[in-house]
Amino acid sequence: MDIVVLLGAPGSGKGTIAAKLAAADPKLKHVSSGDLLRGAVAAGTEAGLQAKGYMESGNLVPNELIATMIKDVIASAEGDVTMLLDGFPRNVAQAEVLEKTGAPIRSVVLVDVPDEVIADRIAGRRTCPKCKAGYHVKALPPKVEGICDACGAELVIRKDDNPETVKDRLVVYHRETEPLVEFYEAKGLLKRIDGNQGPEKNAAAFKAAM
Ligand code: AMP
Repeated sequence: MDIVVLLGAPGSGKGTIAAKLAAADPKLKHVSSGDLLRGAVAAGTEAGLQAKGYMESGNLVPNELIATMIKDVIASAEGDVTMLLDGFPRNVAQAEVLEKTGAPIRSVVLVDVPDEVIADRIAGRRTCPKCKAGYHVKALPPKVEGICDACGAELVIRKDDNPETVKDRLVVYHRETEPLVEFYEAKGLLKRIDGNQGPEKNAAAFKAAM
């Protein structure tokens, strides 16, 4: 097994890219730290209870909390799979945790989208609470408005997708996560793609780069 890290701001489309590629190739496994955490919150686990407040305010949850979950997922990976790691690492300390697992990182792909575009993207974002599929009212609408194509559940707006929290999440991204661009560039692992080409072309560009 090996790992491809998706780097990018909230709303850059990395989750959509990872889900699309994983749906088309059984060897690619999409692992979203945000989905793991939202699952823990929904299940009311101890980790979920701890994470909830941080997530709702747009802050990062404590490193140990998410690192434990990601280490478990990596340890349980079997066979010839490539993990598309979406949302982890989010800071240098987490990148060091990932390194220490010994799992080989094939590449780190930065999905580049200007901040001005992000607010619009997130304003139209809709999410399936059941199967986690992501949609956008204009760029990637479901076949029936408000209903998930994949599982038929009613789509929701994520609590942390309101404009105020999005601003805070972008600040956190630039302060905590963006330093990873240099961190991985120095290791010769970084690739970049233009994340503003629409869902199909973004996914194709990512696949070519990874
Ligand atoms: P995401 O779905 O990736 O946008 O993540 C949603 C929220 O979950 C973030 O705003 C953070 O509060 C939390 N989160 C996700 N991944 C991490 C991580 N690697 N480290 C800390 N917090 C995280």
